[in-house]
Amino acid sequence: MNENVKKANEIKIKTVIKNLEKRNMIGHYCETKAEAVDVIKSLIPEGSAVSWGGSATLDEIGIKTALAEGNYSLNDPMKATDPAEGLKARKAALQADVFLSGLNAVTMDGEIVNIDGRGNRVAAILFGPDKVVLIAGANKIVLDEKDAVDRIRSDACPPNALRLGLQTPCALTGVCKECLLKGNTICSHIVTTRFSMAEGRMHIVLVNEALGF
Ligand code: SF4
Repeated sequence: MNENVKKANEIKIKTVIKNLEKRNMIGHYCETKAEAVDVIKSLIPEGSAVSWGGSATLDEIGIKTALAEGNYSLNDPMKATDPAEGLKARKAALQADVFLSGLNAVTMDGEIVNIDGRGNRVAAILFGPDKVVLIAGANKIVLDEKDAVDRIRSDACPPNALRLGLQTPCALTGVCKECLLKGNTICSHIVTTRFSMAEGRMHIVLVNEALGF
């Protein structure tokens, strides 16, 4: 990454972290993916039950592998091949001690915007696990909520739909058509988190690299 882009990203991330504070969410600045893994591990007490939502960012930083080498009870709902098992694992994730996820966009003012098809990922972010750790690259920072939704529809959904093998208009043409397609739509829920009621629950790890989509 260009040195000045990196510097500009650092300034942006620090502004976001300051604005997360007023929303009772704790931001963490990380220079690299490796640093992010160390920060995330430092937030998870040994022996914790840990689960996560589907996320290219989590895969890219290698946190699942790092946790598999530690002393944690891991529930990976994405591993289930049987639909009934997958549903059971997603429900169990709502009772994890710590829930990890990427996020789809964070505004300069510290609002977190996420989309979800089934809703299990946003459900766990909103309520259930005692601690939520969201990880994002600098590419997820946007000006405001409108930009967040635009980013989600143009940059996040098409590759996500392709990753999941879905036939959405955005995957087929690159353009959102506000689809309402059973079994395909991944924007069933568009959720903005603007404040955390629970002290110390929401941690946002912001990495000065481009991660996920
Ligand atoms: S509403 Fe449908 S077409 Fe639009 S971004 Fe979401 S999945 Fe894609």
